[in-house]
Amino acid sequence: MPKFSRRAFASALPLGLLGGSFLGGGMIEGASALAATQDTAEAPVSVTPLAQIRIGRFTVTALTDGYADMPYEYFPGRTAAEVEQAAVAQFTARPSGVRFLFNQYLVEDGERRILIDAGAAGSIGQTGQLPQALATLGVRPDQIDAVIVTHMHQDHMGGLILGGKNNYPKAELYIDRRDVAHWTDPAKRNGAPDYLQTSFKMAEEVVRLYPRIQAIDGEREIVPGVSIVDLTGHTPGHIGVRVEDGGQSLIMVSDMIFPVVHPGATDVFFLFEQDPAAAKAMRDRFFPRAALEGALIAATHMPFPGLGRVVADRGQMRWQIADWALQN
Ligand SMILES: [Zn+2]
Repeated sequence: MPKFSRRAFASALPLGLLGGSFLGGGMIEGASALAATQDTAEAPVSVTPLAQIRIGRFTVTALTDGYADMPYEYFPGRTAAEVEQAAVAQFTARPSGVRFLFNQYLVEDGERRILIDAGAAGSIGQTGQLPQALATLGVRPDQIDAVIVTHMHQDHMGGLILGGKNNYPKAELYIDRRDVAHWTDPAKRNGAPDYLQTSFKMAEEVVRLYPRIQAIDGEREIVPGVSIVDLTGHTPGHIGVRVEDGGQSLIMVSDMIFPVVHPGATDVFFLFEQDPAAAKAMRDRFFPRAALEGALIAATHMPFPGLGRVVADRGQMRWQIADWALQN
């Protein structure tokens, strides 16, 4: 596996801001989107994308912390040329790689607010927009009752820390026990490549700043209708979250699926995956099951709002984007 320094990682990421607004409605939205497009040539326009769906009694809001473009050589199992070719074929090629969004999901039932993942908070690419997205919704960090972190990579837990402090002071924090053990183990840290050091450092800080952290074991219900799904593989304690009510369900699968390369193949990986065999086993198990069930999926790095399904199309797995607005 090639070794990349953090500097190389950061310098490969372009400048720019998110385009396209999902705020507002109807004609006004169309008009302002057009205005935004015209303005882009003169000055960057900052927008806050939000998308809401109902799952039974739950409102799930997709938020995003921003994006980064991942160089084509960050996908072990395929050559950079193969990944680029696939991106070109899907009309998603960017000058410096595969665009990764960093989506988070806020789950509300009228009583509680549960945030799934906390974003990269500026530690990768053009990120750090989650606080603004929550503010746009009218939600303050101290109104979040629980944060579920799907795994301890920097792009999923970075936003737990703001200015060296605990950013969600009233929240219970749920992280799988295996990830807490892995990412706070000095021996694992010493043996890890440079590009994972930020995650090790952050993990230590998170554990220190969140003394009420709940290191959870296996599949369990967090609150009625919101439960943990074991998706070990991407990291030792990589988990998903199932939201279920009234015959409807959504499963947030975090880094089960990466854009361009998944779910069409399971023998292609992301650079951060330290155990490719485990990552492959995870996807070999999950993709066919998701296709069979037609499960509605939310995925961190897929194009915003990250909602879709894995479908088996003449024996080939592919990602089918799900409708999420104006469907009634
Ligand atoms: Zn990730």
